[in-house]
Amino acid sequence: MTPSSDPATPTPPTPGRSRNMAAIKRRDTKPERTIRSLLHAAGKRYRVDYRLQLEGARPRPDIAFTRARVAVFVDGCFWHCCPEHGRQPGVNGGYWGPKLERNVARDRAADEALAAAGWSVVRVWEHEDPDRAAARIIAVLDAAAPGSQGPRAG
Ligand SMILES: [Zn+2]
Repeated sequence: MTPSSDPATPTPPTPGRSRNMAAIKRRDTKPERTIRSLLHAAGKRYRVDYRLQLEGARPRPDIAFTRARVAVFVDGCFWHCCPEHGRQPGVNGGYWGPKLERNVARDRAADEALAAAGWSVVRVWEHEDPDRAAARIIAVLDAAAPGSQGPRAG
């Protein structure tokens, strides 16, 4: 076990540290940004931080394809309890536990509200390879809007 190698686990905000955390956040190369540029390069048009008003939830996907109704969330491993990197027992569990549980509950509520409204939801973990994530999103997009070039002969 090498606990020092996990980049996704922040420490709780103590007065002296919150400034530090903000600096770290800004400096991070965001997988989200990489995925966006890959989608853009593939000719996909999307909205960023598009807030939806749905029954029971107001989700704000990181990337939204409003015509195809595909919502993409790029979830941080720690904040959204990724099965590989989230929820390390004993690591600040008392402080973060309830917060993280609320995050996950909100994620699931958003998924359900989006699905009920006819949206496809793609959730990408920040640890995923951006190329593969972008390919996955494009596959969902293409499946969500088949034959958009015109009527299919049938
Ligand atoms: Zn992860």
